[in-house]
Amino acid sequence: MIDTAHQALKKYFGYDQFRKGQDQIISRLLEHKDTVGIMPTGGGKSLCYQIPALLFPGVTLVISPLISLMKDQVDALANAGIAATYINSSLTFEEGKERLASASKGAYKLVYIAPERLEVPDFIRTLERMNVSLVAIDEAHCISQWGHDFRPSYRAIPSLLARFTDKPAVAALTATATPKVTMDICQLLDIDMQGVVVTGFARDNLHFQVIRDQDEDTFLLDYLKKNQDQPGIVYAATRKEVDRLYDRLSRKGLAVGRYHAGLSEQERASSQEAFLYDDLTVLVATNAFGMGINKSNVRFVVHYNMPRTIEAYYQEAGRAGRDGDRSDCILLFSPQDIRLQKFFIDQSEMDDGLKQAEYHKLDQMIGYCHTEMCLQSYILRYFGENAPEGCGHCGNCLDTRDKMDVTIDAQKVLSCVKRMRERYGKTMVTKVLAGAADQKILSFHLNRLPTYGIMKAQTQKNINAFIDFLTAEQYLEQQGGAYPTLALSARSVAVLKGEEKVFKKGRIQAERLSVDDALF
Ligand code: ADP
Repeated sequence: MIDTAHQALKKYFGYDQFRKGQDQIISRLLEHKDTVGIMPTGGGKSLCYQIPALLFPGVTLVISPLISLMKDQVDALANAGIAATYINSSLTFEEGKERLASASKGAYKLVYIAPERLEVPDFIRTLERMNVSLVAIDEAHCISQWGHDFRPSYRAIPSLLARFTDKPAVAALTATATPKVTMDICQLLDIDMQGVVVTGFARDNLHFQVIRDQDEDTFLLDYLKKNQDQPGIVYAATRKEVDRLYDRLSRKGLAVGRYHAGLSEQERASSQEAFLYDDLTVLVATNAFGMGINKSNVRFVVHYNMPRTIEAYYQEAGRAGRDGDRSDCILLFSPQDIRLQKFFIDQSEMDDGLKQAEYHKLDQMIGYCHTEMCLQSYILRYFGENAPEGCGHCGNCLDTRDKMDVTIDAQKVLSCVKRMRERYGKTMVTKVLAGAADQKILSFHLNRLPTYGIMKAQTQKNINAFIDFLTAEQYLEQQGGAYPTLALSARSVAVLKGEEKVFKKGRIQAERLSVDDALF
């Protein structure tokens, strides 16, 4: 069967070979084996269902959350001579009805539908009478509450599948799924774990970098000036921030556009269009921009603010370099970003369990901003993949500063956490180490601890950053939700016993100036 798939690949798409994972997914589907396909962005997920769609007798339903993507895909398929259509809210009621009627008569090989349609009983009744050979679920992580983009209407998919008398094959595809999300997808769709095909998350052409302790506006302006004619995206966390950056960069003479959900549909469409067709090189946007955008030559993605989770970060950053050429993924970190993300979690309508999980993900995102390990490996490890030693080209791999032995400082912090009985958060631990004499410290008698003031040569800011480093390297753990407490980890015990040394590039950072330094 895979031979016919090969012929279809050449005939309709003009490609000679399957990419990693595609043949495996396609041959499983052709044998009617339900499959979860996890491939990096740009890995070629669409072909995994488009080719079986061509070879199956019935129609293939593609469930996709993105209206813009549907139109692009359908246009591209039409160009290749494949009958496809989409049904979503961009159509009038009559148009939708007509397309559905034609689909029922077998006029199309592929029909793209928005998940919200699955909540319309009439629509479902028509679907179940159709000869459906394959149901492809794009952005399948949206079905899981543990994913970063849960869509309640995805939950209607299992009941749709149960309605068909001849059960169609199922293909669930995503680029971002942690092991927990993958298991959830399998469980909800009743797919065996054996049916999971993972091609790996690594994108070797992406050069990751985290910028800390630098003025963000200055960095961004310099970076954009240096890369003037390169297409890129600058993500910011709020609409207000997008507007501010847009004004500032425009005033500096840079040709930027903006995109966020507060703009009119027309404004958004024209920014998107201008960016896609290279009339505009840089787009400043919130995360409302990008899902399903198929622009292959994005040379950089700068995050002006830290996103909430590694999944969200990797998905957004991953919009760079889909053509496989070298591209930058830069994250500008500032401690305020943490406050903002915590605020978003607090304000959300998630229940407590989900909020806890979200705080945990946020901690891992913060860890990314402070780790000294290879950034690519950090991300891969998050997704449960065994990462190679180092990518050799991220900001951390290229940081050639010597590693310093900071074991003694680490022991000071860890023993302080222990003395404080793992009941306090980062701020209090920092204050105790710095020997601060504020009311709270005194009223809890924390000034009587033997570790009180043992790092008073350091500023609180530096101690704080050092604790972040120890957390990122898993010598400490944050426990609890909005106000987490610091606790020791399995690794820290070895450090306290003197069995493991801690190394850090550079010193804990400049120590507080001595009186002499300050004078001269
Ligand atoms: P994603 O996994 O992000 O959904 P797409 O399906 O959009 O990726 O594919 C990304 C790009 O790779 C597209 O331009 C597609 O035409 C191209 N592509 C997919 N499969 C192959 C292949 N076997 N050979 C060459 N190019 C391919």
